[in-house]
Amino acid sequence: MQIVVDLTRCQGYAQCVFHAPEVFELHGEEGLLYATAVPDDQVERVREAVAACPVQAILLGREVSGGAR
Ligand code: SF4
Repeated sequence: MQIVVDLTRCQGYAQCVFHAPEVFELHGEEGLLYATAVPDDQVERVREAVAACPVQAILLGREVSGGAR
């Protein structure tokens, strides 16, 4: 599954890092690094991260390819 984080929305709350530390990593104040291709065993964690992000900055594969926002 692919993900995209809208870094113009991301405020560095780190909720995603808390839920899926193998996919998301924070460097400094607003430097969010993430794996664009999510391994199958991390998909559930990423869904939790998506739900937890206070600014809905994380888009999952379907939304990414569908272009719906
Ligand atoms: S939870 Fe959302 S706002 Fe916070 S670091 Fe992750 S993507 Fe950014």
